[in-house]
Amino acid sequence: MHSVKNNAEDNHDLHFAYADRQMDMTVPKYEIPDSGVDARVAYRIIHDEMQLDGNPALNLASFVTTWMEPEANLLLQETANKNIVDQDEYPQTEVIHQRVISMMGRMFNAPVDKDPVGTCTIGSSEAIMLGLLAHKWTWKERREKEGKSTATPNVIFSADVHTCWEKFARYFDVEMRVVPLKEDQFYMTADQVEEYIDENTIAVGCVVGTTFTGQLDDVKGVNELLLKIKADKGWDIPIHVDGASGGFVAPFVYPEVEWDFRLEQVRSINTSNHKFGLVYPGVGTVVFRDRSDLPEHLVFNITYLGGSMPNYSLNFSRASSMVLLQYYNFLRLGKEGYRKIMQNIMDNAQYLEGKLIESGHFELLNESKYLPTVTVRLKDRSLPNKIVYLLSDLLRQYGWIVPAYPLPPKADTVHVLRMVVKENFSRDMAEKFAEDLETCWKQLGEEEKEFKNMEANQGGKGLIC
Ligand SMILES: *Cc1c(COP(=O)(O)O)cnc(C)c1O
Repeated sequence: MHSVKNNAEDNHDLHFAYADRQMDMTVPKYEIPDSGVDARVAYRIIHDEMQLDGNPALNLASFVTTWMEPEANLLLQETANKNIVDQDEYPQTEVIHQRVISMMGRMFNAPVDKDPVGTCTIGSSEAIMLGLLAHKWTWKERREKEGKSTATPNVIFSADVHTCWEKFARYFDVEMRVVPLKEDQFYMTADQVEEYIDENTIAVGCVVGTTFTGQLDDVKGVNELLLKIKADKGWDIPIHVDGASGGFVAPFVYPEVEWDFRLEQVRSINTSNHKFGLVYPGVGTVVFRDRSDLPEHLVFNITYLGGSMPNYSLNFSRASSMVLLQYYNFLRLGKEGYRKIMQNIMDNAQYLEGKLIESGHFELLNESKYLPTVTVRLKDRSLPNKIVYLLSDLLRQYGWIVPAYPLPPKADTVHVLRMVVKENFSRDMAEKFAEDLETCWKQLGEEEKEFKNMEANQGGKGLIC
């Protein structure tokens, strides 16, 4: 007599998903196993283990795209085997890369007499480092020409930035001058910047759509300040705009707001195409206003695999898929499609905001005017901050992933819950989310009551004594 398992082993035409899989053994974790397993078994082991992760569709924590069309998935599969840096072997991929850069330069309103250049990166972090490095070198060359010291470059940005700005400062040895937030203002204005500027300032960073509250730094005001300084002192200090999250929202939702290459001192912009460019992770872009904003000797002309190619990047090899998927979205959606999608997500974010206000428990930090993020704090200031963290935990029971955190320095007494509304977050999901949040709130109340009762029964000595 054979067991079922042996049957399957003997007869290769007969496979059972979980009989083949040797369910009674643990999988190798720390050392490469001596021998392999059937492809289907390997697939199933990993596929199943991934079910332990959160559900991307319910992940309101992240800005990063969690859904694309089936045709995009097909393209992704077809192009995962092409290394984007092999320009000699895959010249047409490079042609499309350049089209994507050109489209983005125009989307950011580069003046017609300018020649915007740039590169797709793995994300905004790499893009920001490349932008700031270019400005560091432009500053250095100018100082050397003037016969002045290049020992102490500095970069100015607000405490509302993403960690990658601090990474740049530390990794590339540039002093960071961080403009603190205020307890009631969570973005940076021009008057706050002025005192930090001197002749060693390589750039001022402005965020369009902060990670913390979704607001905009006052790019226009900073531009005016820098124009004035240029006229008075001759220091030509560039602005690098971090449009990681807002770069694809602004052009379609509030095109009249000037934050991009329409402003003279804005010399480089980064965005995360894998956020509201609506492409899977990892692709970002840095675009320079004009070729002259990127020092030539930072661009390597590499002789590689039989051809010569220009390269400005920190990373090298990766699949070409994500750049091609950005092009797919440009063709597929057009400006009209992007406008409609962005409008929908803004509407749904505002709808969710309304629901949370209605509940009576929360207060908005700001209206979601610039990014489809909903950031709330507790309305009743006498309640402990811990509640937002408990709610975040309880929401997990329903599958929702919602972060709770304190704001950056000087505003760090404010603790918030933040929801990012993405393309696949429907009106119905907004309703369900609001319902679940209310259930969690009630559950907290019940638990507190129970806890108090228990305390009282034990003579007020607490639970464990
Ligand atoms: C997400 C984000 C970043 C980092 O972008 P990655 O693409 O994840 O590297 C930087 N700045 C802001 C404002 C962001 O929202």
